[in-house]
Amino acid sequence: MEERYGKWLSEEDLGLTGRGDESKWSNRTRFERKDMERAGLLVPAAISRGVWRLTEAGWAEYRRIQESEPTAEPVTDPRPLPPGRIIREPEGQEFPSRAETITQRVIRDTAVSRYVKQLHDNTCQACGTRLTTPGGAYSEAAHIRPLGQPHSGPDVAANVLCLCPNHHVLFDRGMLSISQELIVTDHSSGSILGPLRVAEGHSTGLEYLAYHRSHHGR
Ligand SMILES: [Zn+2]
Repeated sequence: MEERYGKWLSEEDLGLTGRGDESKWSNRTRFERKDMERAGLLVPAAISRGVWRLTEAGWAEYRRIQESEPTAEPVTDPRPLPPGRIIREPEGQEFPSRAETITQRVIRDTAVSRYVKQLHDNTCQACGTRLTTPGGAYSEAAHIRPLGQPHSGPDVAANVLCLCPNHHVLFDRGMLSISQELIVTDHSSGSILGPLRVAEGHSTGLEYLAYHRSHHGR
């Protein structure tokens, strides 16, 4: 757990419990594990032999949480498909109602974000793409060190990049990294996209890029 989620633990989480023999996060996790087992969400420890596995009910609960909290970080279902399993196309709906649309991504557009996008004329700093739509050019502002907890990145121009939607997703998921020399690497293909595109009046904070790389283990 610590190996996988340790980077999100706070100073308080890492502190010891009153009894002083266990960290608070480990203690809480142990109790949560028992509760989840009792609720039928986790395969009991006696059966799972040290591997924490969700039950069918556990996965159903996971999907329910994902849908009610669209900003939660997605987890990949680690279960491999059984051999020969056919993925059936869902029936779908001929006239889907608006209410059924689930927004998966929340784009925070602050004044700073709009300013950076303007400086770059909505051109992706990674690939140079400029999407044009009937409503005008479209780009996304990516915070290098994220604004939310536990990152607490600042909302300043040096912490914002102007990216196309594809590169925004890849950057947020750590599949795109930018070196101290401002060289952009696409880790999904292993190719170097080239130097980060710059615009007059916009400098990128090297400390934020360093945070992003280390957060994603690049
Ligand atoms: Zn791009």
